Amino acid sequence: MPDQVTCPACQQAMQPGFVPTSKGGASMFAASWHPGAPDTDKSFWEKFRSGAGGANVDDESLVPIVTYRCSQCGLLSFYAPKE
Ligand SMILES: [Zn+2]
Repeated sequence: MPDQVTCPACQQAMQPGFVPTSKGGASMFAASWHPGAPDTDKSFWEKFRSGAGGANVDDESLVPIVTYRCSQCGLLSFYAPKE
């Protein structure tokens, strides 16, 4: 991951942040990247309505996403850096 990210449209320095998400409750986490396609045995909306959650994920494989935002045009740039 670069130390400084520049917006490709505006050439402005982009600000680092994260996209909050919840995981099994009200606690907020940074959204994470997971390898491969989502492993679902029911449709997403079926699980969403039943409260059973979405795709099955391997927590060991998750990489937190750092998101950079351009304050000029709002472009978002996602990075999942090595730990
Ligand atoms: Zn921009």
